[in-house]
Amino acid sequence: MPADWSRPLDVDRAADQRSEWEFELPLVGLPRLAPDLALQEGSAACRVEFARERGRPVAQVEVRSRVPLRCQRCLRPVWVDIDVSSQVRLVTDPAQAGEAEPGEGDDDGLESSGAEPTLAPEGRVVLRDLVEEEILLAAPLVPRHEDVAGCGPGEAIPAEEPSGDAKKGPMNTPFAGLGELLKRGH
Ligand SMILES: [Zn+2]
Repeated sequence: MPADWSRPLDVDRAADQRSEWEFELPLVGLPRLAPDLALQEGSAACRVEFARERGRPVAQVEVRSRVPLRCQRCLRPVWVDIDVSSQVRLVTDPAQAGEAEPGEGDDDGLESSGAEPTLAPEGRVVLRDLVEEEILLAAPLVPRHEDVAGCGPGEAIPAEEPSGDAKKGPMNTPFAGLGELLKRGH
């Protein structure tokens, strides 16, 4: 079924129907990630599958992507590989958010890290938000080229002063010129 990844969907219904979506998501469409992108390109291959665990809705979220983040050493793009598959517990009732996960500690075959709780206000969740959360969790806090050699010359951040006149002229130059025109007109 085609994925409408930007629209809220009903968590309980998706869980009951064991709905499953596969879709390709442009990275620039992720509002929390977009400001960190060094390049306005790239996409994420996503798969989201809903189910119930002990009666509660969960989603298995798989994301594969190469994300162009900004290297914090040289500020140039560094491509970060994201390949995650994690289970998200969808909390439709905010009162349950602080509750311990049911059955925590017993061996039920789930990954020991446990499912991360995600709020689904009014029982709704947006596929895009699930995917974005996983990318943000998987991305390094301080992205850097692995090698200093992969960075620009030297370790210092290059000043990158534009050699053109882009920064030279102050913004008020056009108005100064306008003033001259007005004077001349009178
Ligand atoms: Zn670098």
